Amino acid sequence: MDIRLGDRLKMKKSHPCGSDVFEVLRVGMDFRLRCSGCGHELMIPRAKCEKNIKRVDRPEEGAQAPKENENV
Ligand SMILES: [Zn+2]
Repeated sequence: MDIRLGDRLKMKKSHPCGSDVFEVLRVGMDFRLRCSGCGHELMIPRAKCEKNIKRVDRPEEGAQAPKENENV
């Protein structure tokens, strides 16, 4: 599974605070995640994390480019 920095992971199990969305702060053997509900940070092994992912939300790359170069 392709997980990148800045991705927002929707998990099958929610955090005790009630949020099930986590932001990816670090990838590697372990993932460092931050709960979007309470801001709690946690490290979990990659394999365990991937099993628990329901959906990956990634901001579209290049979507923010302003359309100001059309009349060149
Ligand atoms: Zn939380």
